[in-house]
Amino acid sequence: MTRMTDNADKTDRTSAERLDQLRDSLDAVQARIADACAAAGRDLSEVWLLAVTKTFPATDVAALIDLGLRDFAENKDQEAAGKAAEVARLRPDADVRWHMVGRLQRNKARTVVRWADEVQSVDSIRLADALGRAVANRIQAGERTGPLDVQVQVSMDADPARGGCSIEDLPDLVNHIDQMSELSLTGLMTVAPIGADQDATFARLERLFQQVQRDYPGVVELSAGMSGDLERAVAHGSTCVRVGTALLGGRELASRE
Ligand SMILES: *Cc1c(COP(=O)(O)O)cnc(C)c1O
Repeated sequence: MTRMTDNADKTDRTSAERLDQLRDSLDAVQARIADACAAAGRDLSEVWLLAVTKTFPATDVAALIDLGLRDFAENKDQEAAGKAAEVARLRPDADVRWHMVGRLQRNKARTVVRWADEVQSVDSIRLADALGRAVANRIQAGERTGPLDVQVQVSMDADPARGGCSIEDLPDLVNHIDQMSELSLTGLMTVAPIGADQDATFARLERLFQQVQRDYPGVVELSAGMSGDLERAVAHGSTCVRVGTALLGGRELASRE
């Protein structure tokens, strides 16, 4: 049995068992989002599901495309670049959008703009500038036409381990990106601190989002909520939930971030 699974992973096919698993977990996650929307009195169309596929193979992404998803997120540039190319080969006609959600070093800006349709983890002016230069270079080379969609990752507890710009630095960063023609600011993203009073954190984030929206009407996305806390995030205005574990299963400890 194990052998067959191994073989299935090496070919382009997803095993029937894996496909059933993914279908069931996708149904369950979509039901959770629907229930959370109903509880919050929000329309289901206000919240979209971003599948976080880090550490999982391209064949899983292909299966999720077949099940109707189009938005996928990764947290490491190198893994994502290979996977996006592989998915393009497996499903050449699929309309797929890739999102970078992990910490990003400035020297990866050049490569990340090759595969990412959106970077949700912009947390410094220096990183924004590096991405802007990378986009400008590609436009000059005739390899892209438009700006890159970005979100600003905000840190709700200023813990540097998870990345994100501090609440104090947020206005300057948002203003800076707003002036850049190479980047299009679409929203705010956060990874909620573990163990904190999540309800209070998400409530504070929602107020911050509304403040930013007042000055920058183009900021329409609030990317908050993951497998463990999506209900709370939806209750507090999240428009995008980033779900990995609840959809694809547990990740190996070594590659967890
Ligand atoms: C891995 C990851 C997720 C998904 O987390 P789960 O708890 O597995 O749903 C969401 N956002 C970011 C930034 C991640 O790195």
